[in-house]
Amino acid sequence: MMGIDEKVRKTLAELGVNDAQGVESLFAELRKTAERERAELISRGAPNQPQRERFCKALRDRWLARKGGFLSQVDENWLKPAGKDLKPAVGRQFNELRRFTASLEFEKLVEALPLGSVAARPAPRDLTLPGLRRPLGSIHPVTRMQREIEDIFLSLGFWIESGPEIESTYYNFDALNIPESHPSRDDWDTLYIDSNTVLRTHTSPVQIRAMEKYGAPLYIIIPGKCYRHDNPDSTHSPMFHQIEGLAIDEDITFADLKGTLDFFAKKLFGEKVRTRFQPSFFPFTEPSGEVAVSCFVCDGQGCRVCKESGWIELMGCGMVHPQVLRNGGIDPDKYSGWAFGLGVDRFAMVKYDIHDIQLFFQGDVRFLEQF
Ligand SMILES: [Zn+2]
Repeated sequence: MMGIDEKVRKTLAELGVNDAQGVESLFAELRKTAERERAELISRGAPNQPQRERFCKALRDRWLARKGGFLSQVDENWLKPAGKDLKPAVGRQFNELRRFTASLEFEKLVEALPLGSVAARPAPRDLTLPGLRRPLGSIHPVTRMQREIEDIFLSLGFWIESGPEIESTYYNFDALNIPESHPSRDDWDTLYIDSNTVLRTHTSPVQIRAMEKYGAPLYIIIPGKCYRHDNPDSTHSPMFHQIEGLAIDEDITFADLKGTLDFFAKKLFGEKVRTRFQPSFFPFTEPSGEVAVSCFVCDGQGCRVCKESGWIELMGCGMVHPQVLRNGGIDPDKYSGWAFGLGVDRFAMVKYDIHDIQLFFQGDVRFLEQF
């Protein structure tokens, strides 16, 4: 909507006003604005005399300055160019506006504006005044990415499960078949609270908690924050976001895993992308794999987004290790399952072409406004 500042710079013809009624409502809006700005000034008060004079002069000039004040602009742009048929109406309204805005004369404002501490004095409230406009926020790109991923799995019948970020070494490591000697248990990777408690290094401990709580069959995804002893740089942050997926049922095979993740990649990046599975190793899955997707920007030709390789690494995955099922209280002779884990921040960086993970966590409105 056009503000008053803008309207007074245009002619009535440019504003599409061509009858007395239009003129009347236009001037009514102007009077209302004058009234509101005066009331806002008075209710704010002034901490001292120089400030009081400065505030009053600013409002007076805005409306009544001979050069550039609203009234002189109305005279110049509305009254003078008005056609014969509208002139009487505009003239009448203009005179009324002049009488009305006499309360914006400098001396009158100074008289009305109270001195004193602004905080100490409760502002009088006029509930008929229009509200102040507050800018709307937007959804953080990482949250947006997380919800997009969640939606795909929710549509497949998975549900969302969560767990504590301060976790025992049992759930974070032992129950997931990560032995005492594994390098990720080293202080350099893990933030320890005490010798038995860590800030969870992945969302995987919730796998065990969910198995204990629900048993099988189980179809869940686990979004959440994770923590590692990493120095912040453009691709590392000591706090980051993961989504874990877990499916446990009778007769679950690697083919189910491939089919589900291929479906997921096509939903997220477009129908034409292809997925690639390569063998890998994780202590909690056997066999384990890394999934990549053909670059959705260059379709595998090689570009900046895929670092000229044609492929974008998506996540680690695999068939849940029988010992992990056993640790969760599930019989590996009856049930089998697959799991995956992906970095939400990295997904958002790829999808929105962002080159520095730190931007997500600095809270700079200029960055966040773009989403
Ligand atoms: Zn590419």
